[in-house]
Amino acid sequence: MDNFHTNIYTWYNINKRDLPWRKDRDPYKIWLSEIILQQTRVEQGKNYFYRFVEHYPTVNDLANAHEDEVLKLWQGLGYYSRARNLHASAKIIAAQYNGTFPNDYKSILALKGVGPYTAAAISSIAFNLPYPAVDGNIYRVLSRYYGIETPIDSSAGKKEFQELAEELIRGQDPGMHNQALMEFGALQCVPKSTKCGNCPVVDSCFAFKNGLVSQLPIKEKKTKQRHRYFYYYLYDMGDSILLDKRSGNDIWQNLYQLPLVEHEKALSDSELFEADHPVTSLQVNIKSISGQKKHVLSHQIIHAKLIYLEVQGNFNNPSPLIRVNKKDISKFAVSRLVEQFLHEAGLGL
Ligand code: SF4
Repeated sequence: MDNFHTNIYTWYNINKRDLPWRKDRDPYKIWLSEIILQQTRVEQGKNYFYRFVEHYPTVNDLANAHEDEVLKLWQGLGYYSRARNLHASAKIIAAQYNGTFPNDYKSILALKGVGPYTAAAISSIAFNLPYPAVDGNIYRVLSRYYGIETPIDSSAGKKEFQELAEELIRGQDPGMHNQALMEFGALQCVPKSTKCGNCPVVDSCFAFKNGLVSQLPIKEKKTKQRHRYFYYYLYDMGDSILLDKRSGNDIWQNLYQLPLVEHEKALSDSELFEADHPVTSLQVNIKSISGQKKHVLSHQIIHAKLIYLEVQGNFNNPSPLIRVNKKDISKFAVSRLVEQFLHEAGLGL
């Protein structure tokens, strides 16, 4: 073992966080934690991890759950496709593998929502297989320590980093190696305010020696963000309101929401007073229009308003919308944005 490995492993043994999914090598729990942590900070992810393990102690329990319930448990974490894929994969494991988590890289990679990074993390941590887990943290550590300037989002960069990572894991304890590097990237060699001062490999770090820490890693493309304009309608029917289930291949698929109209551009309040509301068969009074909320997702920025309507007279249920008693709203999985609007309208979730 060279100094890089020894120093990082020693650092890891002293500094590693006490995380619930590190308590054993149960592949189900490791998988769960890796999916939760794909887009979520560890502190927030922990609570969701506990929640899922409590509700679904085994992969079969998750497979047997209703999707609405899984999405409700996931509420607030965002990137809901993770929850849908988790559920779909649990069903595959229950049906094809008799509830036993597959123990080879290819079968793990074939699960829905599992990419090369997650497959490598599960394979190495749960089954000690020598696959390097290469994510943003690892790109950063390797590009800085070895001074690699190839853009990490180019195909040449991906190949170069992958080959280096494979070389580094060879002959090591794979689970320990991957976790040590990931933790080092998450706690020490962080994107900003990098802790080079007390870094165990500072003496041999290329970026530190050459004043390139803040410039590495290099990215080629900037993510383009799309602006969308959402207008939610809260139909107040006394003891109940209307909810809709999102369908189609779009964000928040299969979550519930207030009836929504999307426009190409932002509408002023006077334009909203003039515009049709989505359930024209209902007689309504506009009670209020909220201020605009900005909700930032990775590739989209949603600008949203809530139009609060008082429904008058008699009405039939405007299918496919669902009439929900106000006290039951919390049973439905909704996006954070809808949750905020409901909360502000006094319909606490
Ligand atoms: S010296 Fe700084 S940039 Fe280099 S590996 Fe350590 S923390 Fe990262």
